[in-house]
Amino acid sequence: MAEYETFTNDVLVIGSGGAGLRAAIEASAAGVSVGMVCKCLLGKAHTVMAEGGIAAALANVDERDNWKVHFADTMRGGQYVNQWRMAELHAKEAPDRVRELEAWGAVFDRTNDGRILQRNFGGHKYPRLAHVGDRTGLEMIRTLQDHGVHRGIDVHMEICILTLLKDGNRIAGAFGYDRERGRFKLFRAKAIVLATGGIGKAYKITSNSWDCTGDGHALAYHVGAELIDMEFVQFHPTGMVWPPSVSGMLVTEGVRGEGGILTNKEGNRFMFDEIPESYRAQTADNEEEGWRYCLGDKNARRPPELLTRDHVARCIVREIKEGRGTPHGGVYLDISWIKERIPNAEEHIKRKLPSMYHQFKALGDVDITREPMEVGPTTHYIMGGVHVDPDTEMSRVPGLFAAGECAAGINGANRLGGNSLSDLLVFGKRAGEFAARFARDNSLGKIDSPSRAGTIDIVAREALAPFESHGRGSENPYAVQRDLQEVMQHNVGIVRNEHEMLSALQELQKFWERANHVGVIGNRDFNPGWHTALDLRSLLTVSEAITRAAIERKESRGAQFREDCPKKDERFAKVNTIIVKADDGSMRVRLEPLPEMPDYLKRVVEEMK
Ligand SMILES: Cc1cc2nc3c(=O)[nH]c(=O)nc-3n(C[C@H](O)[C@H](O)[C@H](O)COP(=O)(O)OP(=O)(O)OC[C@H]3O[C@@H](n4cnc5c(N)ncnc54)[C@H](O)[C@@H]3O)c2cc1C
Repeated sequence: MAEYETFTNDVLVIGSGGAGLRAAIEASAAGVSVGMVCKCLLGKAHTVMAEGGIAAALANVDERDNWKVHFADTMRGGQYVNQWRMAELHAKEAPDRVRELEAWGAVFDRTNDGRILQRNFGGHKYPRLAHVGDRTGLEMIRTLQDHGVHRGIDVHMEICILTLLKDGNRIAGAFGYDRERGRFKLFRAKAIVLATGGIGKAYKITSNSWDCTGDGHALAYHVGAELIDMEFVQFHPTGMVWPPSVSGMLVTEGVRGEGGILTNKEGNRFMFDEIPESYRAQTADNEEEGWRYCLGDKNARRPPELLTRDHVARCIVREIKEGRGTPHGGVYLDISWIKERIPNAEEHIKRKLPSMYHQFKALGDVDITREPMEVGPTTHYIMGGVHVDPDTEMSRVPGLFAAGECAAGINGANRLGGNSLSDLLVFGKRAGEFAARFARDNSLGKIDSPSRAGTIDIVAREALAPFESHGRGSENPYAVQRDLQEVMQHNVGIVRNEHEMLSALQELQKFWERANHVGVIGNRDFNPGWHTALDLRSLLTVSEAITRAAIERKESRGAQFREDCPKKDERFAKVNTIIVKADDGSMRVRLEPLPEMPDYLKRVVEEMK
């Protein structure tokens, strides 16, 4: 029998990023007891890295902005396969969530008359991103933590959840281990909120931090929740390409929002070469107009560098593939050119983009106030995730909620920059509220029945297996992880085709077998090799889900570009891909029609075209 320590709360939140913290605050404000576990240290969740800002139609910089424009922008960006209700709630509630953050002490950049300053970002019609320089995520986490710490939330840091436990159909708890000492822990709860973030570590080149291994997606899938839209992985157009040790590290879209331009090695500003029809009316057709937009001229249209991420990333790949890339295989992103247009440009850049200045100076010996950066696409965000009810964030498993990047629906085929931080606040709050309500209406599920105790023992045995396997022809967990990342990068990356994805599925099968034979040396204390071995199950689950969904969607839309089906296809215009675990344990994919958008929202979309 496995030995473990037990903790009990009404609501358990898994993850301490923006979504987890906001959910925990709301649940505890509703008067229930709240526990929060996170794989990382508190304050170090991936949200802390967010740079450019939080999208909310506050209309502080441009009074023409309102929820309807934000809703229409989000739907257009998502190519209309978003869950319309989530996009509606998000656009309507984001301004209140940002003001609330301000009331809790977030120190945003300011307009001259003292309101929250908003900046331009790709796909947003008006300046909409509330920000703190390019360190918005840090301020968000600091504020939420400061606020949450007084609420009596039980925080368990550096705990990795390995499995969720059910009582019959409903959720009853979670089982994991602490990363320091490797001891097992059982968390009993009436309701659980998953807020475990993204999947970037399934790819070789990524902006994501080490704990973005798709655990929440996999945990939910293995207990019967549905995953939707998994094919839609966002490749951010601008990651660092040099030096190799930091390749993939994000270069915020805020650089382009402040006037940064993209050029190829011939000096051509190539984003003017191809402007999608659906954005033509909103996009500047000359450099002069684009610059006036960046200065705040309300009669100017935005420069093509601020088109949606899927499009910008593909244009960059085209330039590189056709031989117009930079020496290190990227394109140039130049903000230093604004010194031709404004006085004190150097100071301006350092003030507006302090992290970018330091990042390039320290890591690449590039002074961005004087020279261009070399950038290329990097795996950044997953639009797909746990299928939840738009209003309550509950999954198909009673008592299991999800919010933030591990949930899905609001973004459709492509997320607009800034819409994640507002998503965390809007749906984190809702998840906390409805999880607390569920906890008040339900008792604790049983986990001491023979079958539950059996599950715990099996999971504990499997978790310790890598110690037993070591030395007998075992696999190195780092090698399996690296090979998996290579395959996902090359076969299920930014440009896809069926042949390569089918071959990826075969490779994934082999990786599952290798993962079952990984061996690690040492003991359970402070053992990163062991942690890597345990991450493989989630990475493999999400990789398979992404690949199967991408094969099923036989078209190009948003973040999914298929060179064998390069156009949009009407058959896929109103469906989501759904991934479920079948009774025999295999992964199944099916298409499901989207809920019909009500007439009042159809009118909003029409009006904003
Ligand atoms: C460099 C960068 C800049 C970005 N800038 C912006 C921006 O300006 N605006 C914007 O809107 N978006 C931005 N994004 C995207 C945004 O930051 C993320 O989508 C968002 O922060 C995800 O938040 P989250 O709360 O869902 O998850 P995270 O912040 O990733 O938190 C996940 C939590 O779950 C924990 N966890 C994971 N697995 C387990 C497990 N098995 N057991 C226990 N705990 C677990 C983790 O340790 C962590 O605490 C940026 C992303 C990057 C990489």
